[in-house]
Amino acid sequence: MTDGRGATPDSDGPTEKCGVVGVALDDRAAARPLYYSLYALQHRGQESAGIVTHDGFQQHDHVEMGLVGDAFTQADIESLTGAAGIGHVRYPTAGSVDKSCAQPFTVSFKSGSLALSHNGNLVNADEIRDELAGLGHAFTSDGDTEVIAHDLARNLLEEDLVRAVKRTMGRIHGSYSLTIMHDDTVLGVRDPEGNRPLCIGELDDGYILASESAAIDTLDGDLVRDVKPGELVVLHEDGSDFDSYQLVDQDNSAHCFFEHVYFARPDSVIDDSLVYEVRRQLGRNLWHESGIETDVVMPVPDSGRAFASGYAEAADEDGADTEFAEGLMKNRYVGRTFIMPTQDERERAVRLKLNPIKSTVEGKTVTIIDDSIVRGTTSTQLVELLKDCGAEEVHMRIGAPPIVAPCYMGIDMATRDELIAAGQTTEDIREAIAADSLSYLSIDAVCDALDASRADLCLGCVSGEYPYDIEGEPTDREVARPVIEGADAPADD
Ligand code: AMP
Repeated sequence: MTDGRGATPDSDGPTEKCGVVGVALDDRAAARPLYYSLYALQHRGQESAGIVTHDGFQQHDHVEMGLVGDAFTQADIESLTGAAGIGHVRYPTAGSVDKSCAQPFTVSFKSGSLALSHNGNLVNADEIRDELAGLGHAFTSDGDTEVIAHDLARNLLEEDLVRAVKRTMGRIHGSYSLTIMHDDTVLGVRDPEGNRPLCIGELDDGYILASESAAIDTLDGDLVRDVKPGELVVLHEDGSDFDSYQLVDQDNSAHCFFEHVYFARPDSVIDDSLVYEVRRQLGRNLWHESGIETDVVMPVPDSGRAFASGYAEAADEDGADTEFAEGLMKNRYVGRTFIMPTQDERERAVRLKLNPIKSTVEGKTVTIIDDSIVRGTTSTQLVELLKDCGAEEVHMRIGAPPIVAPCYMGIDMATRDELIAAGQTTEDIREAIAADSLSYLSIDAVCDALDASRADLCLGCVSGEYPYDIEGEPTDREVARPVIEGADAPADD
């Protein structure tokens, strides 16, 4: 979702990573499985949570600000009747704590009801919004999800479901994994580049679509497969099966590598790879590219754990005399430091969140491993802390390349001026964070760990070149930006 101003380079509006889910069951109420699966996707969004169900006659919805556990009471869940439904968790971003952007987004129109959950970010929402507004559509939020909902509702007045979705996909450009409910039919759509994840799972009595397979595991279901880039999946109303329609074909995909590095749960399988194993391989590659033998190697919890375990394993295989230690303890009750509004608060929060075990570092040379450096707050604080605890040397190894550019595709990163690596060399950054040495992973090593070619990944934040047509930014491929033909244009078969 955007803040409605579109993803222009000077827009500092929120871009969001969210979690989406949809289920169609035989007979059982969908609300509780949706509730549990939203719990499993809580890491993808903590600002608001919502569920919309359909009982065959009408929609029921409950959308609230806050965490899943706080957003629903027992009575709320019971009021959400019906065997079909979709859900959403929304990511918190500074300055956008507005319930009008909470999802699923619902709309009723002449030929039925629609509910929509969106993970990602359109880059041409403004154009479509302006055009639809000109045709008399009234918008109640400034999010791009509403733009998709209105466009689809309009197309559904003239087309069947599959053709209407195809027509909307031909008009919207950017990153979107969607779960949609049209009356009591639940569908999943993944953008033609497959930027955000979406997968299909089989339950005892139905099917589920979810951002990550961890949600399927939570319901004791089986992962069937990823939804393919450009694919529409329609779940049968009775939960017996699903249909697949490959609506848009693209030569290359643009999977977000950062899902594997940071965002997704390590126990999820995304695009055929277990995230935990990818992170361990990234850690192994990090050792092979820039390993340094120190007395201790330790992860920055929790994000650095799998990287550090792969790194330490590869170090051990190479005969390095390095002890793996969990020398940094995390206070799990402190929220994310990232969204603290001021730098001062962010620094304080790192100190609240992480505390070293002095005896593991005192008098030792130490390597700390994290997945990424964004503003540099965490690494600067950690190096200082470890030195204060008596570490002789502190070396940082990072399981991703330097983040040099913002994300326009749905991840809440800092703006370009806030990114420590934008316009600075690794040596400048090492000096700024006061580490004894600093190394990042190369883009090639990332591709190797993901077993993907550069041409199939979105590496915009580390290369500064995007797989989408973003105003004022270079692209790393031929991008076909959809032409906004006007809502009355004939549908393309
Ligand atoms: P920073 O302190 O700004 O350099 O941020 C780096 C830390 O934030 C690392 O420990 C990452 O695991 C974590 N991180 C990276 N990207 C994000 C993000 N988009 N949202 C929240 N945390 C992040």
